Amino acid sequence: MATPPRPGFPARIDLGTGGKSAVRPPARPAGVAGTSANPPLTSATAPQAASMARDPIPARARMVQLLAAEGIRDPQVLRAMGAVDRHHFVDGALVPQAYEDTALPIGLGQTISKPSVVARMLELLMQGAVRGPDGRLGRVLDIGTGCGYQAVVLAQLASEVYSIERLRDLHDKARANLRPLRLATVHLILGDGMAGFARGAPYAGIVAAAGGEAVPEAWIDQLAWGGRIVAPVATAAGQQALIVIDKSRQGVQQTVLEAVNFVPLKSGIA
Ligand code: SAH
Repeated sequence: MATPPRPGFPARIDLGTGGKSAVRPPARPAGVAGTSANPPLTSATAPQAASMARDPIPARARMVQLLAAEGIRDPQVLRAMGAVDRHHFVDGALVPQAYEDTALPIGLGQTISKPSVVARMLELLMQGAVRGPDGRLGRVLDIGTGCGYQAVVLAQLASEVYSIERLRDLHDKARANLRPLRLATVHLILGDGMAGFARGAPYAGIVAAAGGEAVPEAWIDQLAWGGRIVAPVATAAGQQALIVIDKSRQGVQQTVLEAVNFVPLKSGIA
C-alpha cells in the first residue's frame, strides 16, 4: 500500500510575504495587523471577504474563515482574530501549527487555547458586557495570561486589558512576546487571579482561561454592573463547562453552556 508523502520537516506554514522574513514581520508592530499599511476594517458588516483579500498571512485568513464557518458571527471578534499573529506566541517548532484550530503547549504544562475557543469566549463576552459608544468593551480582566495571545486579541476589543498570570516564567514570556507590540492598553500582572485584580476594577468583562471548582466571589465583586464573566467551571460530573455570569442591579445570573477542557485554576504564585 502506498504511503502518502509526508510533509517535509520543518513543515511549512503559509505566512505569505508578511511573515516570510521572520516570525515578527518588521513592517509593522509584530503580532498585530492594523497599521496604516494594513488598516483594520471599520465596517461592522461582512468583514471576512474584504479582510481576507488583504491579509498578508494566508494561514491566518483561513483560520478566520473557518471560525466564521463554525458560527462566530461578531465582526469585531473575527477582525480581532484576524489581526493578531498567533504564530508570534508559540515556540518555533510549533509555528507550522499556529493557525490550526488546536491548543498548543506554551511551557510549564500550560497551553494556548484553541482559536475557536478564544473566539467563542470573546464573542460571549462582547454579547453580554456593557460596551462603550464605539462598540468596544471598557476595562477587562484576563485571568491566565499564558503566552499573552488572548490578552492581545482582547486589546483589539477593549479599551484596557488587565491580564494576570500566576506562573512567573509565563508572565515573563508574555512580557517578552508583548514588548515589540508596544500595546499601551495591555497591563500584565504577576499574581493570583483567583483574587481578581482589584486595582483595575470595576471590569466590563472578565474572562478566564483556567477552570476552578467555582467562580471566585472576587470576580463577581470586581465586575461592573452590566458586566459579564466568561469562564470554565467544574461540573458535578468532574468535567468542565463554560459558564456565563451576568451582573445587574436585579441580581447575578449564571448560564451553563457547552463542555470545555481548560487547565486548572490554581491558587498562589509559582
Ligand atoms: N490565555 C492564555 C491561555 C493560557 S492557559 C493564552 O492565550 O496563552 C491558562 C493560564 O492560566 C496558565 O498559564 C495558568 O498558569 C494560568 N492560571 C491558572 N490559575 C491561575 C490563577 N489563579 N491566576 C492567574 N493565572 C492562572
